[in-house]
Amino acid sequence: MGSLGTNVLENNLGCGLNPLDPEEFRKHGHMVIDFLADYYRDIEKYPVRSQVEPGYLKKCLPDTAPYNPESMETIMKDIQNHIVPGLTHWQSPNYFAYFPSSGSTAGFLGEMLSTGFNVVGFNWMSSPAATELETIVMDWLGKMLKLPSSFLFSGNGGGVLQGTTCEAILCTLTAARDRKLNEIGRENIGRLVVYGSDQTHCALQKAAQIAGINPSNFRAVATSKKTNFGLSPESLRTAIAKDLESGLVPLFLCPTVGTTSSTAVDPIGPLCDVAKEYGLWVHIDAAYAGSACICPEFRHFIDGVESADSFSFNAHKWFFTTLDCCCLWVKDPSALVKALSTNPEYLRNKATESKQVVDYKDWQIALSRRFRSMKLWMVLRTYGVANLRNFLRTHVKMAKHFEGLVAMDKRFEIVVPRNFAMVCFRLLPPADDGENGSADDRANELNRKLLEGINSSGRIYMTHAVVGGTYMIRFAVGATLTEDRHVNLAWKVAKEHADSMLNSMANGHI
Ligand SMILES: *Cc1c(COP(=O)(O)O)cnc(C)c1O
Repeated sequence: MGSLGTNVLENNLGCGLNPLDPEEFRKHGHMVIDFLADYYRDIEKYPVRSQVEPGYLKKCLPDTAPYNPESMETIMKDIQNHIVPGLTHWQSPNYFAYFPSSGSTAGFLGEMLSTGFNVVGFNWMSSPAATELETIVMDWLGKMLKLPSSFLFSGNGGGVLQGTTCEAILCTLTAARDRKLNEIGRENIGRLVVYGSDQTHCALQKAAQIAGINPSNFRAVATSKKTNFGLSPESLRTAIAKDLESGLVPLFLCPTVGTTSSTAVDPIGPLCDVAKEYGLWVHIDAAYAGSACICPEFRHFIDGVESADSFSFNAHKWFFTTLDCCCLWVKDPSALVKALSTNPEYLRNKATESKQVVDYKDWQIALSRRFRSMKLWMVLRTYGVANLRNFLRTHVKMAKHFEGLVAMDKRFEIVVPRNFAMVCFRLLPPADDGENGSADDRANELNRKLLEGINSSGRIYMTHAVVGGTYMIRFAVGATLTEDRHVNLAWKVAKEHADSMLNSMANGHI
């Protein structure tokens, strides 16, 4: 029984003799699967947004870890009683907040397999299947998105699975930085400039901070309602020209397809034209909306991608794959490798030296890496392109339906045009509500209250964004279990809360 000592052998609490005993694994594994199956079946009985107060869990659990083993039954009971109440139920069909984290049976089983094998595929040799499956799946997915072959291994590019978009942007920015500094000299790092828009995800700013970009050289170019909050190529050109005049060096542009606040789409083609004129690396962040581009009718949103240097989207958002799984493609993998590789003696091996293999440790921040392609492969094979497209289309259709319901009620307004499966809307304040302050401020306050009322009911969960000074409620369809009836219910809940708020206002109670 090896090295585990007598404490474990002598325990009589029913836990096995070896932490990886196959029969115990089977038994407890089945228990967890049954627990999760019940959880999914009954998920609607929980309030969608967790109702606990900060620090709730400390009151439920002991101050120190148990010295003696505890039984699986006891632990599972605590999960049900103490952990589940502190969950916000992202898999609930009544979840419409942030962006979805769409789970699926295939994604879950893939996750289970990769966790079960628990291999650490930093280089090819450390688990050839992990590396080779990833290169194959990334080419499959690249073809589904109709990425040009220059992004695929079958061209001269390639794809890699990162944990998150934040990492994908940091890695590509680092590659761009080093490529540029090799041209102009390391001492010029303080002159490099990074461009996004005021709608770009904060991942870009974080990456710039980590990559050593001078904080005063981070440009969040202003957008406006006129372009539906997309970045205009003219504004980009003006910003670049101004920086060049100041002796700075434009480095990196990160356009977004489907911004987090309002799913705005930056015009990739025209932006790439400007960027290429000035030698910028263009990374396209399609974290949320990239998934939709496997449908021919949405593919136009990434037209122009052929001129970019890199492209990423999160399969863990709206692609039925469990967190974490960010798909990144680059045209010039050697730029990543030059910036991110190290070659310690203890990792030397014949395969690497033959230069016939990909060593993914050189495409990412960390050395160790999970076997993420397993879950993506399971998702692609289990559902096929046809069903994946249908799932996405169903979500878009439901969002469109909700949009129609909102548009029919003249007390509400759709704030920005819907592009994918998210509707941005708000309640309009009554014309004469006797309140002070500008109409915008009053509308913002009204919607803040409305949203808080809805969310604290626990029946549905939505979140907000402020775009161009307008507070709006975001209704993001994409939870895998959501059906038409949930969308209808969501509208009913929103309307009921609005009715009761407007009534109390009319009666002078608010
Ligand atoms: C969600 C999101 C991100 C951040 O993704 P992570 O994987 O959490 O780093 C970046 N950009 C956009 C547009 C997003 O919607």
